Amino acid sequence: MVLGRVFTLLGLTESTCLVCGGELDDPEQGYLCTACLKDIKPSHPMDYENLSFTERYRIFSRYEGVLSETLKLIKFRSVKPLAHRLGKVVSENLLEFIGETEPDLITYVPVHRWRFWKRGFDHNEEILKGAGVQPGQILYRRKHSKPLASYGREDRFRAVKDAFGVRDAYLEKIEGRRVLVFDDVLTSGATASLLN
Ligand SMILES: [Zn+2]
Repeated sequence: MVLGRVFTLLGLTESTCLVCGGELDDPEQGYLCTACLKDIKPSHPMDYENLSFTERYRIFSRYEGVLSETLKLIKFRSVKPLAHRLGKVVSENLLEFIGETEPDLITYVPVHRWRFWKRGFDHNEEILKGAGVQPGQILYRRKHSKPLASYGREDRFRAVKDAFGVRDAYLEKIEGRRVLVFDDVLTSGATASLLN
């Protein structure tokens, strides 16, 4: 059908899983079939580098395969339901970590408000909500910066320092508190240093 085809080209609707090409069991569920989503599993494939500015951190899995595809769909094609589904996938692991570390506050690395308006949601916030966690909106992005991945390691740490601020409502609340910060991708750990 022509109309359906046009919508597919525009990316407004999908009838097959964007990763494996298989039938979608439920077209509303957001671009990936259940079998592919089940492929996203926790793993600890790397040595945990010592990030001196964090007390502890945990990586869910490597940024590859279905997991990286899922994040790209959420971020670049604004597929919000998929953020909630990804939250469900990581929830057991995340809640376990929260149980072990008992943070006073939980938050996430936010997108700039321009990107928020364009996309309509903040992916990290929605992933947390999907996991059953209600985060505080502690941080904001000062400037609409280039993606951090485009900087070299040293420049990235400098860029992060300039890029984020703590919202006024939390300035006193975070003093001396242990804050868990959720982010979708850890590259250099630069963003993880931001509360230091
Ligand atoms: Zn699939």
